Amino acid sequence: MVTATFRFYEELNDFLARPQRRQSFSCACARNASAKHMIEALGVPHTEVELILVNGESVGFDHALQDGDRVAVYPKFEALDIQPLLRVRERPLRVIRFIADAHMGGLAQLLRLAGFDTLYDNHYEDARIEALALDEDRIVLTRDRELLKRRTITHGCYVRTLKPEAQLREVFGRLDLARSARPFRLCLTCNVPLRRIQKDEAAGRVPEGVFERHAQFVTCDVCRRVFWEGSHWQRMRALMDSVAGSAHAPE
Ligand SMILES: [Zn+2]
Repeated sequence: MVTATFRFYEELNDFLARPQRRQSFSCACARNASAKHMIEALGVPHTEVELILVNGESVGFDHALQDGDRVAVYPKFEALDIQPLLRVRERPLRVIRFIADAHMGGLAQLLRLAGFDTLYDNHYEDARIEALALDEDRIVLTRDRELLKRRTITHGCYVRTLKPEAQLREVFGRLDLARSARPFRLCLTCNVPLRRIQKDEAAGRVPEGVFERHAQFVTCDVCRRVFWEGSHWQRMRALMDSVAGSAHAPE
């Protein structure tokens, strides 16, 4: 066995046992245990970690811990400027896509509203989520930290809030999504791109009053429904504007 000293920063402390929070503590590790193994053994999913310093040097997840090592573990998107330092992951995901865990259907719909391809099915098994995340480069959104400890899940976000709107704000803030948002691009039900149609194509497919008052319509080629910029759309627009705006503001 070797003994290393750990210090976790910011919200990573939420995952630790109470006596280990917000302070340095020593921990016995198996010889050659990896940094990732120890961090997860202490309760922190590796997907929540952005930077690991061992004795002041940036290391990767597979770094083997030695006796006397001082290990500092930082969360994603910590205000600390970590750009010059090596990150634990080789590259960020180029296209931002999500898969949402059970009971996050509300968040999934709001992310689609913001234009982010988001898979969701309340009956996905954990193994299915892991496989889809790997095959399709999706970021896993969950409130299940055990799911985030699965080996092949490299990009995930442990969602702390409970209500869909608060979850949307949280995910926007933590993943800095405001600049990538493209609202009203996807069908909220089918998660596929909406297509603009000629006004006459909407005839008979929307209420008569709506047809008279509106000039622009879009349709989903999967569920065949037609959408227009009505009052629901305006409420959603206000939500999108407020989320994108607040995500820029300092905490
Ligand atoms: Zn649809």
